[in-house]
Amino acid sequence: MSAIDSLPPLRAVIATHGLSARKSLGQNFLLDLNLTAKIARQAGDLTGCDVLEIGPGPGGLTRGLLAEGARRVVVIEKDSRCLPALQDIAAAYPGRLDILQGDALDIDPLAHLARPIRVAANLPYNVGTELLVRWLTPDDWPPFWQSLTLMFQREVAERIVARPGSKAYGRLAILAQWRAEARIVMSLPPDAFTPPPKVSSAVVHLTALEQPRFPADAKVLSRVVAAAFNQRRKMLRAALKGVAPDIEDRLLAAGLKPTDRAETVPLEGFCALAREISAG
Ligand code: SAM
Repeated sequence: MSAIDSLPPLRAVIATHGLSARKSLGQNFLLDLNLTAKIARQAGDLTGCDVLEIGPGPGGLTRGLLAEGARRVVVIEKDSRCLPALQDIAAAYPGRLDILQGDALDIDPLAHLARPIRVAANLPYNVGTELLVRWLTPDDWPPFWQSLTLMFQREVAERIVARPGSKAYGRLAILAQWRAEARIVMSLPPDAFTPPPKVSSAVVHLTALEQPRFPADAKVLSRVVAAAFNQRRKMLRAALKGVAPDIEDRLLAAGLKPTDRAETVPLEGFCALAREISAG
């Protein structure tokens, strides 16, 4: 393992600060600084950018982001045991690391960040998915972030980049691909983590588009897609019965067949349907 800074190796950091991994916090740490530097590089050119990192843990990815030249890194970590390790990193990069302690689902970090902003995280997948949906569904677009570089279970990553007709295609694919360019940029086996999780992981990189690929209201589109895939085996006319009155007419007006199933409908079709429903 080569040094990316003058700080101790991550195994020593874990030992010094007693950071035994807690399952309840989804703690599977990345302890190879070469690997965390590689993930940080997937986030793009960080010079001149602020980076928001969620769930830094002992700080492997944080160190990669700082070493890659981020102007400032703002981290949100729920586990207070990690704070001393993060404070050591802040001391090694004076004025460039802000540490916020708490639940990322409750904290708004925007007051601490200046644009352009990139986001990077290796999070428990349920928190990651919830945050991803929030970041993809603000009322206004473009969002506060330029890119998101996020670690997920491989199966979740595949759902984000899935195409119509595949088993993985659903709400996440539509929300991600409507307003962003989404790619899997790295795959990681379980043994890249300490302790190793049961499944493989992948890093997804999303770049915000200047404007959505097709016009639609974010809330209406989210509602339509959630209902359509909630009962993905059903025909659209049945799955969407509760979403709007005279749904068959609206499906036809949007160029869709009421007998189609959600998994065959492309993004453009869902956006057309959302516009028909918004039209009232
Ligand atoms: N980024 C570190 C790494 O790559 O080694 C740690 C990754 S570990 C998978 C997930 C981290 O997210 C843990 O440090 C955990 O304490 C933190 N975490 C879990 N839930 C969180 C939440 N709701 N808000 C902020 N941090 C959270």
